[in-house]
Amino acid sequence: MAAADRFYIATPIFYVNDVPHIGHAYTEVAADVLARWHRQSGVDTWSLTGTDEHGQKILRTAVANGVTPQEWADKLVESAWKPLLDTIDIANDDFIRTTEPRHEKVVQQFLQKLYDTGFITEGEYEGYYCVGCEEYKQADDLVPGAGEFVGQQVCAIHGRPIEVLKEKNYFFALSTFQQKLLDLYESQPDFIQPPSLRNEIMSFVRRGLDDLSISRQSFDWGVRIPWDDSHVTYVWFDALLNYISAIGWGSDDENFSRRWPAVQLVGKDIARFHAVIWPAMLMAADLQPPARVFGHGWLLVGGEKMSKSKLTGIAPHQITDVFGSDAFRYYFMSAINFGQDGSFSWEDLAARYQAELANGFGNLASRVIAMVGKYCDGVVPASGEATDAERGIQKTVADAVVAAQRAIDTFAIHDAIAAVWTIVDELNGYITLQEPWKVAKDPALEERLHTILYTAAEGLRALAVLLSPVTPQAAQKLWVALGAEGALGGLREQSIPSAGTWGQLPAGTQTQPLEALFPRIEAE
Ligand SMILES: [Zn+2]
Repeated sequence: MAAADRFYIATPIFYVNDVPHIGHAYTEVAADVLARWHRQSGVDTWSLTGTDEHGQKILRTAVANGVTPQEWADKLVESAWKPLLDTIDIANDDFIRTTEPRHEKVVQQFLQKLYDTGFITEGEYEGYYCVGCEEYKQADDLVPGAGEFVGQQVCAIHGRPIEVLKEKNYFFALSTFQQKLLDLYESQPDFIQPPSLRNEIMSFVRRGLDDLSISRQSFDWGVRIPWDDSHVTYVWFDALLNYISAIGWGSDDENFSRRWPAVQLVGKDIARFHAVIWPAMLMAADLQPPARVFGHGWLLVGGEKMSKSKLTGIAPHQITDVFGSDAFRYYFMSAINFGQDGSFSWEDLAARYQAELANGFGNLASRVIAMVGKYCDGVVPASGEATDAERGIQKTVADAVVAAQRAIDTFAIHDAIAAVWTIVDELNGYITLQEPWKVAKDPALEERLHTILYTAAEGLRALAVLLSPVTPQAAQKLWVALGAEGALGGLREQSIPSAGTWGQLPAGTQTQPLEALFPRIEAE
């Protein structure tokens, strides 16, 4: 297991065959929220993402577009995949491409090690192959085709016919790891999450494992097998190694041991690669398995899995252009129980934007800052004596930090946000009940007015810290408006575990006007 004082999280690296859709962005945001949360908790954090650039599918797409596969990959990375990270505000520490020398070198080193120790041997393979999956399929992975493919067996994921391939191949001795993998799942019950996925993977492994064909001879877009350059490495075997090549396995032992093992965040459809093949590869090389493999659910649009090939793909910028990156992040992390499938609809997004972000959080922030401006010349007042109402808010904030941390520890990002949102709801209720605009009319109640406004401003201080991993831009604007940057330092340096310690915002802090955090969206 990873030590509690460090956290290395990796997204899958994304296949550059096509441009990103919101399913990819969903994975990126989840990993980023978890990384930012740990970073702000003082944990030695590293977050990795990147692109998977080898394989037959890329080669075919490049040829179809009249360019080399490297040119195709370069173009997609620069024009689509790296810009995606800006679009949704990802603060990754590294970005790895599988065509980089630092990665290819590790793939060859790793292969040679397994060849030398007898875990890779030569053999012949004949089987069904899905080019979409870049994977050999078993008969029970296939389903009857529909539409133009009626009468044929097709890939259950892609709905397209499979090909029959026969090759001389090198094989990884995956079958010899069956018991070791089952022992791993038994000894670390949270190794695969959520439990439904763990059960599925365990019964898959119990049925027995075939050795894995890890080389291809029919095309040449890949990492050469070091002892036989007529073969290139199977793209999945190559791609999985990014999680250790990026942190210096084989070249920077100190950094590698500082970072490894990783938490692997994956879509559940690629969980078998990460929870079966990948740990077996690592065991063969005498390395620790990942700390955890968490499979999240699918985004459904109109009841179907989001994918470009099914014409339901929505580009992330279509959402952020209208609602902004914070709303994108907040919506997908709060509206969907992380780990389960979730439905996306524009109507639901627009309704939650208005109710939760604009009217709930945004309005709270602007009302409080405006009242401090109007009644206290923009200076955070000193609190008088607290009543039960103020103690209630203090308790809400302290409890929210504890509950949110507990939720993050189990990757229940939606529960963490719900816990933080109790502060938004309680503060809104508090202000409605205390009616500071009425209290302000009676000069004799000035101390009471100051207590109410201090409580509200200090509650916002805690909210800015706690929401910084989820809605970093709004949190930063609020932080500046509270004058906290001057009084307390940068928002990102604020520790989440101590966010609930009451009274950190000093009286006398000069606030700044706050523009609407979540402006009204004109209906289209
Ligand atoms: Zn497929």
